[in-house]
Amino acid sequence: MNIRIGSGVDFHRLTEGRDLWLGGIKIPHTKGALGHSDADVLLHAICDAMLGAACLGDIGEHFPDTSNEFKNIDSKILLDRTNQLIKKENYRLINIDSTLCLQSPKIKPFVTQMQKVIACILDLNEKDVSIKATTTERLGFVGREEGVVAFATVLIEKVSQ
Ligand SMILES: [Zn+2]
Repeated sequence: MNIRIGSGVDFHRLTEGRDLWLGGIKIPHTKGALGHSDADVLLHAICDAMLGAACLGDIGEHFPDTSNEFKNIDSKILLDRTNQLIKKENYRLINIDSTLCLQSPKIKPFVTQMQKVIACILDLNEKDVSIKATTTERLGFVGREEGVVAFATVLIEKVSQ
């Protein structure tokens, strides 16, 4: 058995005048996440978990926020490229578990669509893409709606040649 685990975490500031992209879809909200790319905190955490599992560094190394190439880029492209990176090392993704932390809006109505989008990009079954969401009971920067956080854990396996 050649199975490896990876974990990822990401944070973004919330601000007015930006779109809120989470899990590859645009969520109607009064604020959006600030970042060099579309600032999709969930997809970034998943990318970092995948890279971590394969010991390939982190998202900032592969897609630097100093590069114009990645300015306002759709993070679904980064997720696809991350999948290519682990495939190049002969790894295959098995499953994802993730948690989004934000005070509002409610994420539950969007989870099925997020699962579909992510599963499609990564060639997974939707049942292999778990997305949970929690508030922080109004505690801290998430509770004050100043930011959003995502955690992801993934399993990958080495594909025999
Ligand atoms: Zn990010």
